[in-house]
Amino acid sequence: MREFRYERAADPPAAVALLAAEPGGAFLGGGTNLVDLMKLGVATPDVLVDVRQLTSSEVTELPDGGLRIGAAVPNADLAADRRVRDRFPVLSQALLAGASGQLRNRATTGGNLLQRTRCAYFTDVTTPCNKRAPGSGCSALEGLHRNHALFGATLEGPGACVATHPSDMAVALAALDARVRVLGPDGERVVPMSELHRLPGEDPDRDTTLRHGELITALDVPALDMPSRYRKVRDRAAFAFALVSVAAAVRVTDGVVEDVRLALGGVAHRPWRATAAEEALRGRPATEESFAAAADAELAAAVPLRDNGYKVPLARNLVVRILLELGGEGR
Ligand SMILES: Cc1cc2nc3c(=O)[nH]c(=O)nc-3n(C[C@H](O)[C@H](O)[C@H](O)COP(=O)(O)OP(=O)(O)OC[C@H]3O[C@@H](n4cnc5c(N)ncnc54)[C@H](O)[C@@H]3O)c2cc1C
Ligand code: SF4
Repeated sequence: MREFRYERAADPPAAVALLAAEPGGAFLGGGTNLVDLMKLGVATPDVLVDVRQLTSSEVTELPDGGLRIGAAVPNADLAADRRVRDRFPVLSQALLAGASGQLRNRATTGGNLLQRTRCAYFTDVTTPCNKRAPGSGCSALEGLHRNHALFGATLEGPGACVATHPSDMAVALAALDARVRVLGPDGERVVPMSELHRLPGEDPDRDTTLRHGELITALDVPALDMPSRYRKVRDRAAFAFALVSVAAAVRVTDGVVEDVRLALGGVAHRPWRATAAEEALRGRPATEESFAAAADAELAAAVPLRDNGYKVPLARNLVVRILLELGGEGR
């Protein structure tokens, strides 16, 4: 039995101050990931600061037509919000592709962003894992890794890690250029989604660029003036994480791709914004041929492991398919 304290604070600054004074503490959102990790002995916080009632659980309008999403908005409410469904279908679809109805009712927006990898060795405390126990090694490199990364992994040395980020919502938010509002001991700052999650580098125990004690208070999603969609491929139809997923938005004018956003999930330690594919597509005819060439441009940088090479054609097919659905053949 491992004891820990449970604390509530009067407001967000008090929660931040409380955690700043507790180097071994953690914020608690819905607890659907953190509490599981505590039961397994993977996370061992000595104090939990409950922030589920502290940050906003509202979705509000921004002046540019975008939305501000409070960190405590449950995943289920966000997916069902009429404005999200109408203006950002990619976000609603990504949320509904994750977990189950019960989990989405409990899970929060802030907690979803910071959920930890589903690498089997990370949650098995009897095996070496550089993310859980820095310097112990990476069991996945030579072990089970068919769900693991194609891009940006660290393949050797004390920082070796080939894990992927598990959140579906984060992939949609990466494509939407969302901004994360953070309150820390030194005040507020705004972190672009592209800078929130990190690659493993030499220290895979750090998933994000957030500092200890920084609280996510909200997300800002800027207006989107193109159709968007999310597609996820997984081992079974429910309750499974992405093998590969794609979040896409595209605007086609007179048969030409005017603007495009693409992000991939299940392929890297962070949501993978497919900038090479985007670049290859802008100004090109909206045809299957251009879409395939763009996917190939992105996947040229893939470094498959022994057992996850199948993800390369899977990602290619998924990118082509979603772009055809959204704006293909001059639509
Ligand atoms: C069986 C199962 C299947 C699942 N399938 C999927 C899936 O297919 N796709 C998917 O995307 N997800 C899936 N999930 C994961 C689920 O989406 C996450 O568990 C959930 O979103 C986490 O949110 P939470 O509020 O419960 O976070 P918590 O568990 O409370 O916290 C997670 C992390 O975030 C930190 N945190 C929480 N709130 C804040 C804040 N405001 N500021 C700073 N730090 C904070 C905590 O300290 C902790 O480190 C699944 C989960 C389970 C159990
Ligand atoms: S891939 Fe990362 S999380 Fe998985 S065993 Fe290796 S170091 Fe640990």
